Amino acid sequence: MDFLNFYLPQPLALQVSLHPVPTGTEDDVRTWRFTPNGEFTLRTAYDLTDTTADQNMNQPIWKSVWRTPTLQRIRAFLWLLNHNRLLTNAERGRRHLTTNTDCKICGDGPETTLHVLRDCPYARATWADLLGEEPDSRFFEQDIHRWSLYYISDKSDTIDSTLFAGTCWLLWKNRNGYVFRGELKTHAQIQFHAKQLRDQTIQALEKENAIFGGGGLREQRQIGWQPPAQDWVCVNTDGSVTISPESTSCGGIIRGSDGRFLKAFTANLGGGSITRAELAGIVYGLDLAWEQGARKVELGEEEEYGAEEGRRSKKQRRNPEAEGGGVSAGIGERSKGRRFLKLDGG
Ligand SMILES: [Zn+2]
Repeated sequence: MDFLNFYLPQPLALQVSLHPVPTGTEDDVRTWRFTPNGEFTLRTAYDLTDTTADQNMNQPIWKSVWRTPTLQRIRAFLWLLNHNRLLTNAERGRRHLTTNTDCKICGDGPETTLHVLRDCPYARATWADLLGEEPDSRFFEQDIHRWSLYYISDKSDTIDSTLFAGTCWLLWKNRNGYVFRGELKTHAQIQFHAKQLRDQTIQALEKENAIFGGGGLREQRQIGWQPPAQDWVCVNTDGSVTISPESTSCGGIIRGSDGRFLKAFTANLGGGSITRAELAGIVYGLDLAWEQGARKVELGEEEEYGAEEGRRSKKQRRNPEAEGGGVSAGIGERSKGRRFLKLDGG
């Protein structure tokens, strides 16, 4: 202990002394801390990545970014900004692309994202007029994520989210103009352009709402995969053809009602048409599902004519003698362009 105290700061020495030196003769072994027995499994590793992704996805900033009433390219810019993906000099320094991380505009201090967009004297001067006589005291205090979330969520009385997002984008474009082409706009030019951009954007968004209703120009449609009902499994299959060398193959995936992966397959079919590949995929998929003990199967198909063929096979399946059991089926349309068959062999 004295030895440790001599070389290490006290808290660290104490921490080290809490781990007793092993007295046995066994060798060290590797363990995986996410399973009870310490054995590595792919599933725990997958779940681990999955939950971290979910936590990150659910943060309010991402919803706010894509809801900001502004141009799509500015939303994409806000998205990059919040992922720390703007290539500022500080970021270039971090990636060992440069040794000089100073701001090229003011020459004072490392050029971080927050410096370019807010703390550089040049940016401060640009914001000063936009923020008016009595700027929000929070404006120059928060870190980049809180700052952008606060102002794009329209929480401020002094500056609206459209003007805020547009000004950030113009400041970044202006920075790039200076770094790459030596062109620097005046504060007055940026302010003027930012206000003009805000007015035009709001006008366009109002027009869009008046013509297309609240939904906007873009048709919103659920394209995500939805798990099947309780006690059902879902079989999604597809077939493909390559021209040179000519070959066909099919593949598919089977998932349970909780969305869990159950089984997947691929098969090389040699030659044949795309229809044959599609149908082979369906046959393989159904066989595999049956093998897995599944008796209620939702069959998902990507192609329109795949569904047509499926409808024909459905009629055959409806014949109880041919199937040897009471297999009934129904066809439905889950979403545009993607049909599915429900086969109940239970
Ligand atoms: Zn600067």
